Amino acid sequence: MDVRPTSRSCGPCVACCKPFSILEVEKYDANWCQYCTIGKGCDIYSDRPFECKAFACLWLNDKGDESDRPDLLKVMMDMSDFEIGGRECDILHFWEMEERAFDQSRVQQIVESAKDQGYIVILHHPMTSDDGYKGYKNTAQVSPSLFTEAESSQITEMTERGLL
Ligand code: SF4
Ligand code: SF4
Repeated sequence: MDVRPTSRSCGPCVACCKPFSILEVEKYDANWCQYCTIGKGCDIYSDRPFECKAFACLWLNDKGDESDRPDLLKVMMDMSDFEIGGRECDILHFWEMEERAFDQSRVQQIVESAKDQGYIVILHHPMTSDDGYKGYKNTAQVSPSLFTEAESSQITEMTERGLL
């Protein structure tokens, strides 16, 4: 998500320095960036890549409470969109920063509220495979009253294949 931030600033949060691939700094999915100091910030802040400068998570875009800042909640959220059944749908991505962070009641509350509002929810849970590859296990959730079974199956399949 790259909407310009409004009244908030990142402070010590670096939660978006883990999930994405940023080739310019040789950073790959689910690995902390080599220039990230956790709890402090970016070591190359003024020279960071364009993707880093442009990115703003939902919290930085004034969504949620102050205590939902990703480094505090241990979950970072951003959005993308997807067309299904002839309509444009918003996808709300949840990136888990700490083991079992998705189990928190506050996170579950946001997930259920998002589904009720018609969002496609995708949970990205970090995992390491037997060969040491770090990545995400992705699972989708939608409201059964707002998506058909066929739509839900398509979303699930595409999510598991990492296409959403
Ligand atoms: S996750 Fe959001 S609040 Fe945290 S550093 Fe990134 S943009 Fe800033
Ligand atoms: S270059 Fe800086 S802002 Fe970009 S991912 Fe690395 S530590 Fe984060």
